[in-house]
Amino acid sequence: MRINVLTLFPQMFRPVTEDSIVGRANQAGILDIRCVNIRDYTQDKHKRTDDTPFGGGAGMVMFADPIFRALEDLGARKGQKMLYMSPRGKVMDQAMIEDLAKQDEVFILCGHYEGVDQRVLDYWEMEEVSIGDYILTGGELPAMVLIDAVARMVPDVLGNGESHLEESIYSGLLEYPHYTKPREYCGMETPEVLLSGNHKNIHMWRLEQSMRLTKERRPDLWAAYLKDTSHLTKQEKKLLQSVIDEENR
Ligand code: SAM
Repeated sequence: MRINVLTLFPQMFRPVTEDSIVGRANQAGILDIRCVNIRDYTQDKHKRTDDTPFGGGAGMVMFADPIFRALEDLGARKGQKMLYMSPRGKVMDQAMIEDLAKQDEVFILCGHYEGVDQRVLDYWEMEEVSIGDYILTGGELPAMVLIDAVARMVPDVLGNGESHLEESIYSGLLEYPHYTKPREYCGMETPEVLLSGNHKNIHMWRLEQSMRLTKERRPDLWAAYLKDTSHLTKQEKKLLQSVIDEENR
């Protein structure tokens, strides 16, 4: 999958393109993350990339022209997946991420200051994507969040020992608590069942913890989970009923 990033701060992306799981996938060629500096495409003799907004008001607006030139240089065509990181956009969720992971190529535009000239978004038919209801200084961190979440859904990015199937949200439930060595730490014990070696009991304990956490912390996810429980075994359905009954007590 090729991911093209248009930014004024390409150096901010180094940890994503070089480190950890996503960096490894980028270096192995499973991902091809290219970050271009919008400033390299300005024809202004002072290398300016922005100016004051028509109509007045605070802040600066990024010029359309260097962004058009950068997109054309990257070989972008209208109709390709174009994203503009923006607090006005649809808030990212796992369904959106999985959809994006199926693309062969995406373009991600990072805004700064007040944002970009609207004609960039209109001409290239960009989808605006937000990472939440708060304002950051630039689109770089949101773009990195998106790239990281998309990358782990691309086949072969996660190694054998790493799976997204049991992760929070993906499974429809929040994930159960984890423990590792030592068995006892500062007087706190690891739950006995996890040391038992009985995989069926471990599975049931984890499922129960996941159900309880989701019911308690995310009523929205819990309601969605309850809508379709056809994938559960008879025993799992019994467990679910007991967690539902707890709620009603
Ligand atoms: N004036 C813009 C508004 O009110 O919608 C906010 C501009 S913000 C200071 C600068 C840039 O940061 C935006 O162009 C966008 O690329 C990025 N940004 C800020 N918050 C964001 C969020 N929650 N999600 C995605 N991108 C965000």
